[in-house]
Amino acid sequence: FVNEKTYQTYLEEGREEEFHKEYEKALEKVNLGNEYPILVGKDEVKLSDKLIVKTPIDTSKVLGIFQRDDGSNLLNAINVAKEGFKYWKDSDWRDRVELAYKAVKEMRRMKFELAVIITYENGKNRYEAMAEVDEAIDYFNYYAKLLEDNRGFIREMESRIVKGEKAYSVMRPYGTWLIISPFNFPLAITTTMTLGALLTGNTVVVKPSSDTPLSAFMLVSILRKVGFPKEVVNYVTIPGELVDKYLDYVDGFAFTGSREVGHKLLKSFINKKPRPAVLELGGKNATIITAKADLNKAVEGTFRGAFGFGGQKCSATSRVFIEKAVYNEFLAKLKDKIEKTVIGDPRKRETFLGPLINKNAVEKYKKYIKQAIDEGGKILVGGNVIEEEKTYLVQPTVIVDLPYSSSLWKTELFVPILLAKEVENLQEAIKLANDVDYGLTAGIFSEDEKEIEYFFNNIEAGVVYANRISGSTTGGMPGVQPFGGWKDSGWTGKNAGGPYYLLSFMREQARTTYK
Ligand code: GLU
Repeated sequence: FVNEKTYQTYLEEGREEEFHKEYEKALEKVNLGNEYPILVGKDEVKLSDKLIVKTPIDTSKVLGIFQRDDGSNLLNAINVAKEGFKYWKDSDWRDRVELAYKAVKEMRRMKFELAVIITYENGKNRYEAMAEVDEAIDYFNYYAKLLEDNRGFIREMESRIVKGEKAYSVMRPYGTWLIISPFNFPLAITTTMTLGALLTGNTVVVKPSSDTPLSAFMLVSILRKVGFPKEVVNYVTIPGELVDKYLDYVDGFAFTGSREVGHKLLKSFINKKPRPAVLELGGKNATIITAKADLNKAVEGTFRGAFGFGGQKCSATSRVFIEKAVYNEFLAKLKDKIEKTVIGDPRKRETFLGPLINKNAVEKYKKYIKQAIDEGGKILVGGNVIEEEKTYLVQPTVIVDLPYSSSLWKTELFVPILLAKEVENLQEAIKLANDVDYGLTAGIFSEDEKEIEYFFNNIEAGVVYANRISGSTTGGMPGVQPFGGWKDSGWTGKNAGGPYYLLSFMREQARTTYK
């Protein structure tokens, strides 16, 4: 298994210009404003009630026209997927692996087009959009390889006692899963959850975020095109608030999104009857800068972790704890770096920070900044909205001197606001870092191995990094950094893109025969 690294590969081969040309060609080619049906088995359903999705880059442009289901199509799709399960459950795992590799070919062929769709859908710059396409391809390759390495999770057991006894452990699928995916990684996260279910013999109904339904439509179309049966992979656009009661009809569900929504769905789901759920929830991730840090690395890593994609990642750095001796110097350098951020149209090559996802995100940004100031915090840098009608641009913001009693220290914000605090030592930093309900990612900058070891052993988080210049707490790669959270940030403890992820979608059957 080798990670897909598109931009880096172009760079290393001295073909950077070609990368940009390809992306810009795709920008010209992708046309917006098409209509997309709901996909239920062989039926392509159009409804009179539409969901008109605009691009956050330019709110006068329609990204696509989607159907707004009231639940009846979701129910149909679940029933169709259940019919599909009757044969898909017994499909040969080798055939599923082969389909996954076919999909990889198709996705590679469409790489630039998919990256452009992501840019239009959620405003990611070209580098991050392509990294997301790479991540989606990685999930295909990695999970296919896991199935191969584990021979479809079928294992002969030893039988020592009874003669003529033959025993196997066989991992079996559960049935039909609802896949509920978020706006921030509309392709990659939809892919990991969908494949988790599909490649293990389950069938799915994919319900994308209403902000970003196009990437998911592309994914489902690719899966169907390469030969996943239509009954097995369905696609329904429906407002999130309507989904709850349809969970009654599925055998499992996978969700990535906020803790509030995730917990609400999970509670009603397992209260009715215990069934499996795979949840990846939010974070309130901390980065620690010790006196022994290389401050240049620390500034670059913290900047990218906090402000990459406008902090709209569960993994985003949202708190930074800095040892006293380097507090002022670190913040001065960080401020300097932030003031040079290129904010604007993410279609442009030089843009680092594009728009937030929607108006609601801008409102949240304003509300949090006001709260921080009202409660005694000071804005070190940023704090302003640049544009909130035609597109949704805001400044990356660092807040200092915010009293620790403020609820902002414990709330996931999902906008580009970083809270900074001075600490006496590493112990205090770790204590504060752990003082939240979440436990997703965390980072440290220190050149001292003992400090790093101490941090790893005492921090409560599922994904932890030391000296990660590319983004402090962010950017986990399939097969390298299995991604998932502890405490309120997750549920199964088996991380996406890791060796145990597929097990969440299967149950064990011990099979024994006698001669
Ligand atoms: N996998 C991504 C990362 O490590 C984050 C996923 C998310 O935000 O949900 O940055």
